Amino acid sequence: MAKAELALAVEGLTVSFDGFKAVDDLNLYVDQNELRVVIGPNGAGKTTLLDLICGRTRASAGSVKFKDKELTRMPEHQIVRAGVGRKFQTPSIYENLTVFENLEVSFPRGRTVFGAMTFRRSSEVIERVHRVAEEIYLEDRLENAAELLSHGQKQWLEIGMLLMQEPELMMLDEPVAGMSVTERQKTAELLNRIAVGRSMIVIEHDMEFVENIAHKVTVLHQGKLLAEGSMEAVQANPKVIEVYLGH
Ligand code: ADP
Ligand code: MG
Repeated sequence: MAKAELALAVEGLTVSFDGFKAVDDLNLYVDQNELRVVIGPNGAGKTTLLDLICGRTRASAGSVKFKDKELTRMPEHQIVRAGVGRKFQTPSIYENLTVFENLEVSFPRGRTVFGAMTFRRSSEVIERVHRVAEEIYLEDRLENAAELLSHGQKQWLEIGMLLMQEPELMMLDEPVAGMSVTERQKTAELLNRIAVGRSMIVIEHDMEFVENIAHKVTVLHQGKLLAEGSMEAVQANPKVIEVYLGH
């Protein structure tokens, strides 16, 4: 079997907040085309891990390599340009804009100031907006103000805003929190579809959902790796049951 290519290599990653290590000497390797789910109790350092990868928080030590680019010293916007997209726990959409406009403003502008100024509503943008809207179940809602969407639809819209940038590594923090059962099932379908051709890291608590999407599961506890492997292996791991699944 051919060796899978690495998309992301996190090594020795550490961040201390006033001496408290929220992420502590962590190693994590994600393959290209892999959908990895990260689980663990509250305060385990899951969100902080994503903050470190996307450059929102600076590492105290260690490295984050995305396809051989070192990310730990890059500013956030450069990390986005390198192909890393991240969705936060709470949706950050533009409530007053329509669904169309929310997607449109997320289309990556030219790489220069000149590119940004000459940006127009080109057919390329319009096509991508429609393609993404269809993926996220919002093709009938393009002209609606985003504030009128349900909580679940807002979460999908934010995923769509990331898709507009066609990231090679997509990171989602608790995408199904607060969703109905039907919305969770549709989100699992959505993630399985958009994971094709890119790598994803998804943080989630809902184990049924995790089972529906995960290629492999990483369990964090107190900033450290507690266990890693298939969903079955992780669920059967006594350490994982003790600190997480047993509660
Ligand atoms: P999780 O997402 O797994 O629930 P977090 O990554 O949000 O956990 O938090 C891990 C720990 O780091 C928590 O104890 C949290 O209080 C702490 N923490 C996170 N960000 C900061 C910060 N900017 N300053 C100080 N402490 C922080
Ligand atoms: Mg969190």
